[in-house]
Amino acid sequence: MKDWSKTRPARGLTLSVIAASVLAWGSATAGVTDADIVNDATTTGDVVSFGLGTQGQRYSTLDKINTSTVGNLVPAWTMSFGGEKQRGQESQPLVHDGRLFVTASYSRLFAFDAMTGKKLWKYEHRLPDGIMPCCDVINRGAALYDNLVIFGTLDAQLLAFDVETGKRVWREKVDDYHAGYSMSAAPIIVNGMVISGVSGGEFGVIGRLEARDAKTGKLKWIRPTVEGHMGYKFDDQGNKVENGISGTTNATWPGDLWQTGGAATWNGATYDPETNLIFVGTGNPAPWNSWNRPGDNLFSSSTVAINPDTGKIVWHYQNTPHDGWDFDGVNEFVSFDYKDPKSGKVIKAGGKADRNGFFFVNDRTNGKLLNAFPFVKQITWAEKIDLATGRPVYVDANRPGNPAKAGDGKKGEVVFSAPSFLGGKNQMQMAYNPGTGLFYVPANEWGMDIWNEPIAYKKGAAYLGAGFTIKATHEDYIGALRAIDPVKGEIVWENKNYAPLWGGVLTTAGGLTFYGTPEGYLKALDAKTGKELWSFQVGTGIVAPPITWEQDGEQFIAVAAGWGGAVPLWGGDVAKRVNYLEQGGSIWVFKLHKS
Ligand code: CA
Ligand code: CA
Repeated sequence: MKDWSKTRPARGLTLSVIAASVLAWGSATAGVTDADIVNDATTTGDVVSFGLGTQGQRYSTLDKINTSTVGNLVPAWTMSFGGEKQRGQESQPLVHDGRLFVTASYSRLFAFDAMTGKKLWKYEHRLPDGIMPCCDVINRGAALYDNLVIFGTLDAQLLAFDVETGKRVWREKVDDYHAGYSMSAAPIIVNGMVISGVSGGEFGVIGRLEARDAKTGKLKWIRPTVEGHMGYKFDDQGNKVENGISGTTNATWPGDLWQTGGAATWNGATYDPETNLIFVGTGNPAPWNSWNRPGDNLFSSSTVAINPDTGKIVWHYQNTPHDGWDFDGVNEFVSFDYKDPKSGKVIKAGGKADRNGFFFVNDRTNGKLLNAFPFVKQITWAEKIDLATGRPVYVDANRPGNPAKAGDGKKGEVVFSAPSFLGGKNQMQMAYNPGTGLFYVPANEWGMDIWNEPIAYKKGAAYLGAGFTIKATHEDYIGALRAIDPVKGEIVWENKNYAPLWGGVLTTAGGLTFYGTPEGYLKALDAKTGKELWSFQVGTGIVAPPITWEQDGEQFIAVAAGWGGAVPLWGGDVAKRVNYLEQGGSIWVFKLHKS
């Protein structure tokens, strides 16, 4: 077992000695540093960032658990999140210095001994009545920095706790939950700053990214993701100074619609130290009814690259200009390098499996589109993405009809759209394995009937102007874990799943790809072939990404379990089809059986 006394002052020290050493101890203790964050992907003894490295590859160099040994993977421990509060568990755990941190539904945070599962402390946030999370009371994870563990709550606060004691160190109100703001994404750390977004695109909030001093919570900059809004910087005294408007007011938005324009940054960000860029995906423009807002509606449904030093947008690429289907472009933009088959040059790229059904590859230095191809079988809203213009070729007849043209002016023409608004991929994170050169994408095949209705903004009310019913498009499956070659633009293999996939992916140098299913199976597939090599039933659906680390010579796998998220709430016919799935709330840890 871990000897905790090594990381704190010896008990015999006098108070004055402790007081005198507090400043030095702050840096001498094994707190998480910026170097730890930047190197996270290659340091196997810990997982100190969302994405197992801020580039978001979810790849581990560990190979003790591999295609030959994975059959011996057995549970090491499991712990319940307890209480009556179950619902969706979408959180990625973090591990540092022998402690495992995991957030849970209803804005809870737990610290466990990573080896034994002994509960060290927990925090249960007191949520007010009237919070408005769109898509279940979930949380996707915390960030670690110095001696702090930091996470966002459903009432739009950011909280930091001492990793050892669980005592709250700082608390900042991010925004007004009465207006529909909430927080569900895992923050990331960039150069000592905690970077966080906001949720609430269904309520006409203004998407933005914020940078705060991770040790104090004090704001450094704010960058709105709706064109027309002013960005701000904060000096050391906390004074707010203008830092340039995002885009050009009214260039891509009519009238004052941009003032409630959505583009929520609800799924967090990735950061690439090589280019010093933060990449954040943005949600739908508000309202859903696109007839209200002619134009591209920047920077909605886009990848936006922000310089962390300036808080300014360096480039953007819009995956769905003038979105009319709730195709939030919040899917993670994952940095990877590849050799250009023609020139042999190494390309610094980023991949994104977008909710709209296309897989996009952009040059991550400037946003230029390099490749775009479908990763789902049915896409109705566009014929293709034109690589020359970088824009979709729309199928105009498959945009929901204009309610103003309907006989009664109340309900526009109903169209069938695939993917459904729950997306070819949603919040669940893909992984990239540099060994195979493949992305592993938890994809779903489904469609929806969708129509538009008149709508006006009202604070704190749903701001959609649309109705919908989600439908399965295949009898035998909805989900499919797909291995995707980003250069050739091909699906290399797939492993179908009856229920829609909603959990993230982990891939390893052991030649494995791990992911969980709503049916409750954590699975390991051969990363090259997709062959299923191992599975284990955790007793409730998995909608979270697994992690791996090594401790005392053993490799561990951990995943949060608990069915929920958007599907049971919004899934229409699909929700009925999977209503036999049971809720839960627990963390599971696995290791190789020693014979
Ligand atoms: Ca690490
Ligand atoms: Ca949305």
